[in-house]
Amino acid sequence: MKDTYILAIETSCDETSCSIVKNGKEDIATVVNSQIDVHKLFGGVVPELASRMHLENITIVIDETLKKANMKLEDMDAFACTYAPGLMGSLLVGLETTKTLSLVYNKPFIKVNHMMGHIYANNINNDLAYPLIALVISGGHTDLILMENETSFKYLGSTLDDAVGESFDKVARILNLPYPGGPNVEKYAKEGKPTYKMPEINTKGKYDFSFSGLKSHCINLAHNEKQRGNVINEFDLACSFQNVVSKELTIKAERALKDFDVKTLILCGGVAANSFIREELHKMCDKNNINFYVPERRYCTDNATMIGAAAYVLYKNKNFADYSANAESSIRL
Ligand code: AMP
Ligand code: MG
Repeated sequence: MKDTYILAIETSCDETSCSIVKNGKEDIATVVNSQIDVHKLFGGVVPELASRMHLENITIVIDETLKKANMKLEDMDAFACTYAPGLMGSLLVGLETTKTLSLVYNKPFIKVNHMMGHIYANNINNDLAYPLIALVISGGHTDLILMENETSFKYLGSTLDDAVGESFDKVARILNLPYPGGPNVEKYAKEGKPTYKMPEINTKGKYDFSFSGLKSHCINLAHNEKQRGNVINEFDLACSFQNVVSKELTIKAERALKDFDVKTLILCGGVAANSFIREELHKMCDKNNINFYVPERRYCTDNATMIGAAAYVLYKNKNFADYSANAESSIRL
C-alpha cells in the first residue's frame, strides 16, 4: 500500500507546532515553538498575545518542519489541524493556514479535535487494540472515555469542576512556583513526604472527578499556617497534593476497567508527563493484568504529531472537512 504523509498543525493554546506524520504512526519531522517564556511573565496564557505569536510563527514552523523532513508541500497527501477545543484566536490561525494549504495543493483538509489528538499520541510507534479505556488528563480536561473502536468515544466520567492540570497550576501559585506549574509541583513533590492530611474526594458519578475542594484545602492550609506564623513545608504540601490526585485518578480508572471488563488503559494529555502519576497507574495495571500505554513525554504536552496521528484515522475513513469549518472553543469528541 502507498504510504500516506499528512502535514498537521497544532495552535490550540500556546504552542505553534507542525509535524509530518507517515501512516499515522511515524514522526518524520516535528517542530514545536513554545510561547511559554512570554506568557510566564503574566502568570498564564494571554489569549491575544498567543494568537499574535501564532501568526508570526506559523509559516516559519511549517518551513522548518519541511526542511527537517527534506520534503515539499507537494509531497503531502492531506493537510490537518486542530479545530477545537482551545483559544478561539489561536485555533483560527492554524485552521485558516491549513485550509489555504489544502486549497492551493488540492489535497484533503482534515479537522481534528485536540482531545482525539491526545488519545492518538498513544498510537505513535504503537498499535492500539480495542476496546480500551482512555484517561485524558490535561490543563482543561479530566475525562475517562471508553473506546470500543478507533472512532467511538463514550464519556464515562469527567471533572465536575477543575481539570487536573488546572489544580496543579493553582497549587503551584500557592507555592509561588512559576507557570506552567505542573512540572514544578512535581519537582517539589519529589523532595517531600505526604505528611499533610488531604480531604476525601466525593463525587456522585462513579467515574467523575473533582479537584476544586482539594485545591481550596491547599490554599486554606497555606493561609492558616502563615497566619499562625508557621512555615509551611512546601515540598510536603506538593507531595501530599500529588498523592491524592494520583490516588483519585487510579481509583476511577481501575473501577472503569473492572466494570467494563476492558484490558487496556491509555493515559494522555499534558499531565501524563508526570512521572509519579505514570508510575502509579502502571502499577495498578500490572496488578490487574491490564496493558498500560502512555506516550513519550514530548507527545504528552501539546504537539502536532498527535494531530497527524489522529488525522490519519479520519483520512482512512475519508472523514474530510470542508472550507466552511470554523474553530470551536469547547466541544466534546
Ligand atoms: P495540556 O492542557 O495538555 O497542554 O497540558 C498542560 C497542563 O499539564 C498544564 O496544566 C501543566 O501544568 C500540566 N503539566 C505538564 N507537565 C506536568 C507534570 N509533570 N506534572 C503535572 N502536571 C503537568
Ligand atoms: Mg492539550
